[in-house]
Amino acid sequence: MSYKKDTICVQGGYRPATGESRIPPISQSTTYFYEKTQDMADLFDLRADGYFYTRLANPTVAAFEGKVAALEGGVAAIGCASGMSASTLAAFTVCGAGDNIVSSSAIYGGTFNLFAVTLPKLGIETRFFDPDAPAEEIEKLIDEKTKLIFTETVANPSIKILDFDKIAAIAKKYGVLFAVDNTLATPILCRPFEWGANLVIHSSSKYLDGHAAALGGVIVDGGNFNFKGNERYASFNEPDESYHGLVYADLPSAQFATKCRAQMMRDMGAIMSPQNAFLSWLGCDTLALRMERHSSNAKKVAAYLASHPKIDWVWHASLPENKYHKLAEKYLPDGQGGMLSFGIKGDVKQAAKFMEALQLITQETHVADVRSCVLHPASTTHRQLSKEELEQAGVPENLVRLSVGIENPDDIIADLEQALRHV
Ligand SMILES: *Cc1c(COP(=O)(O)O)cnc(C)c1O
Repeated sequence: MSYKKDTICVQGGYRPATGESRIPPISQSTTYFYEKTQDMADLFDLRADGYFYTRLANPTVAAFEGKVAALEGGVAAIGCASGMSASTLAAFTVCGAGDNIVSSSAIYGGTFNLFAVTLPKLGIETRFFDPDAPAEEIEKLIDEKTKLIFTETVANPSIKILDFDKIAAIAKKYGVLFAVDNTLATPILCRPFEWGANLVIHSSSKYLDGHAAALGGVIVDGGNFNFKGNERYASFNEPDESYHGLVYADLPSAQFATKCRAQMMRDMGAIMSPQNAFLSWLGCDTLALRMERHSSNAKKVAAYLASHPKIDWVWHASLPENKYHKLAEKYLPDGQGGMLSFGIKGDVKQAAKFMEALQLITQETHVADVRSCVLHPASTTHRQLSKEELEQAGVPENLVRLSVGIENPDDIIADLEQALRHV
């Protein structure tokens, strides 16, 4: 049976046997018992499914992985300690020294640092493109050493919407793996595999958990990429000497996820903790309901701010005048999520005054949980940049990022209203 997404939210990833607990127990154990030596040996050789050490797999983490894989329509998922470790392990699964990543420049700041500063120290280069650039320009960045194209469905804080068709066509033409960070859209609003992506990355610390309770990340394998015989991916086509000569491209499915778990989880760790997997699994129960409410609240707030005389501009794809409205109608027709950015007329001081006057909405670096929160990048995450550098980074100094929660929308708007009176 294939179920709809809201059904998968509450039923996916775990099915107890008779007499077992209805929701997944927290398997708070590093290790697992086996009577027969051969049973353990089969697990080590990947000849049998099961658990032998929690750094590689754990039943509670597996329940969460199963739910996210089903929601995204992928063939397998890997629960990671954080969104950042998910992106890092995904990159290492395909890239080594001398390889490169072709990435959108409109990505999460932490991922940008990973690609622009840390990976180059290990000999992995990143070539950034403006996601609004024409395909011909993006294509020029690809060469025989390109192993990954990386993008975000809804970019933060520019709230740009990805043109999947444009990127998927390039990825197909060159036979390059197409990865999408789907954190701010979630599979409820957009499923990247349906638009040609091969890999989905999540920071489950955001909407999937939803409560700001558990850090986590997920890599989802779409199972829709042809590694077999693709010269770009020699490491999938040559025997893995560290795994008894296993050739990943010869596996019947989940080739990427298997290589990622067998090599990267084994060597680098960074698996999700059972406790966080439990909380995130539970959080996903309400994901479909929450995304509906985040989206409708943000749409109302965006419309309110757009008509306010003290507001310079508002970025949210629900607004008909927004540059990405057309793309959102195609790729996120059921709602555009709770993230929006806006500019307050005046200088940095006006933005600070507004932020401090808020009573319900709190100042936080986090986004995408049930509570509304704001951040002023120019005085926090981007405070070392000059006014000109801020403009270049697409973060004007008057930009306020608002993550709209699931409170009553009238209360959110009333708080914005009273705070704007102080400006
Ligand atoms: C937060 C975030 C990340 C990083 O995730 P962590 O769980 O904080 O490591 C990656 N991508 C996006 C879009 C994010 O919002």
